[in-house]
Amino acid sequence: MPAMIELLQQSPPVAIAAASLLGLLIGSFLNVVIYRVPVMLEREWAAQAAELAGVTADADAAAPASPDGAKFNLMVPRSRCPSCGHEEPHRQGEPCTRRRCPQCGQALIRR
Ligand SMILES: [Zn+2]
Repeated sequence: MPAMIELLQQSPPVAIAAASLLGLLIGSFLNVVIYRVPVMLEREWAAQAAELAGVTADADAAAPASPDGAKFNLMVPRSRCPSCGHEEPHRQGEPCTRRRCPQCGQALIRR
């Protein structure tokens, strides 16, 4: 670890590249959190409201279930096309900078 810090101190381009990569990783994770946490809270509150109303619902706070029973948290489900629901393939050799859904051709907003 000290060797890595020394390398970063001696080579500004490497330090800039490392800081940029770290920034992209953190930004990508925060993008997921910003999109998914409100949805998770809304589902949890709906489950609690349904429970108070006497309707049976899955009130698992860690991974609240959607009305169709699928889990929704920071890890699952994978990204989907907002237009057709096509699940984004997991690294099938395609670059992650794809801008259109391969199924319907709709422009994708990265989340
Ligand atoms: Zn689509």
